[in-house]
Amino acid sequence: MAHPLPLPPGALSPPKSSATSAVMSHITEKASASSKKSQWQKGELIGRGTFGSVYIGTNRETGASCAIKEVDIILDDPKSAECIKQLEQIIEIKVLHHLKHENIVQYYGSEVVDDHLYIYLEYVHPGSINRYVCEHCGDITESIVRNFTRQILNGLAYLHSTNTIHRDIKGANLLVDASGVVKLADFGIGKHVMQADIQKDGNHRVALLADIWSLGSSYVQGLEQHPTYTRNVIFRGEGFSSTLLSQKSCRAPSACMLLEHPFIRNANYQNY
Ligand code: ATP
Repeated sequence: MAHPLPLPPGALSPPKSSATSAVMSHITEKASASSKKSQWQKGELIGRGTFGSVYIGTNRETGASCAIKEVDIILDDPKSAECIKQLEQIIEIKVLHHLKHENIVQYYGSEVVDDHLYIYLEYVHPGSINRYVCEHCGDITESIVRNFTRQILNGLAYLHSTNTIHRDIKGANLLVDASGVVKLADFGIGKHVMQADIQKDGNHRVALLADIWSLGSSYVQGLEQHPTYTRNVIFRGEGFSSTLLSQKSCRAPSACMLLEHPFIRNANYQNY
């Protein structure tokens, strides 16, 4: 196990409880002697989640951008809800740390500075698929849906190949960049717990299908919320969305199998 590095100037003193020690030792392993925060200038607020705020970061040396997730730290009570939230963030770090794929949001590092945990991530602009659908509703073609879906499945196939489950696949956590590349974001505690479970039970396939089911549900949600989008696009891929929602685990497809589905493979696929 790596020896914890010294905390950056102004960082919290090491906590006393085992739970908080676990949190801090993981963070401090990530914090390098030269603080990452000093490399990244915190800029405009992008949005707020349950656990904190996300800002645009600019690299002071290269001008590159990142997304900075800032989480308040209150480590006085290891059983407090705040501490649990922090643990969840650490798990997000742990999961992301090992993943490298074009369709997974890239993790750059993390550290504690003062009373905040900072997680540095690839900045994916303009943002979520939800936003994309709202802004382009009438212009979304079947080809765009196919392209986005293929990339989501590529990301899931990679994730599942590492026995990791996302567990929160939804429009808000699927980010689209300016080139139309889709990336899976927002990894949290459920994924890690599930990972432990599937390792224990050996029931990999059924557990991994949770993500496929969520993807199918997102299609249905799009269907309910965006009637035009639905009429023009989803019904064409009706066979595909019902495949996504196959309930019987023996029939339910994996991400790899779905990549072979005619709707994904065949530009001329129709199912009116
Ligand atoms: P919750 O945590 O409650 O599920 P959330 O996923 O929206 O909500 P965050 O992950 O903290 O919460 O994200 C907050 C906002 O920041 C979201 O609107 C999201 O689109 C945006 N965001 C998060 N990560 C990035 C990123 N890497 N690049 C660009 N925008 C991002």
